[in-house]
Amino acid sequence: MMRLEHIGIAVKDDQEAASLFARLLGEGAYKSEDVERENVKTTFFRLSNAKLELLQSLAVDSSIDKFINKRGEGIHHLAFEVDDIEMEIIRLKNNGFAFVNETPKAGADNKLICFLHPKSTNGVLIELCQEKRIE
Ligand code: ZN
Repeated sequence: MMRLEHIGIAVKDDQEAASLFARLLGEGAYKSEDVERENVKTTFFRLSNAKLELLQSLAVDSSIDKFINKRGEGIHHLAFEVDDIEMEIIRLKNNGFAFVNETPKAGADNKLICFLHPKSTNGVLIELCQEKRIE
């Protein structure tokens, strides 16, 4: 069964948003990490049953920059954790889902990730993620 791993929230100003969420949750972020290939800075907060991932663009025309220009700040994606991302990609492709990237790539927080295309998921960008294993 899939598990909600985190909710990604696109923000314009990571510092401001991080202090707001720290006040809201009563606890600060536990980690910040730049994903250079995606030109995005991520900041993570823990909830008891999932995480929040703040996403701030580090470059004009990054996917987060484009998202904010088009739709404003707000919920960007839901991330579901799976045990075997390769198997899930095959299963979902066989079920007619479209992907943004079909080959898992390295994401923040020691994860392999891929994104389903929102056109096949009611407009919701969905990330599949799997903890990277030591091989
Ligand atoms: Zn994410």
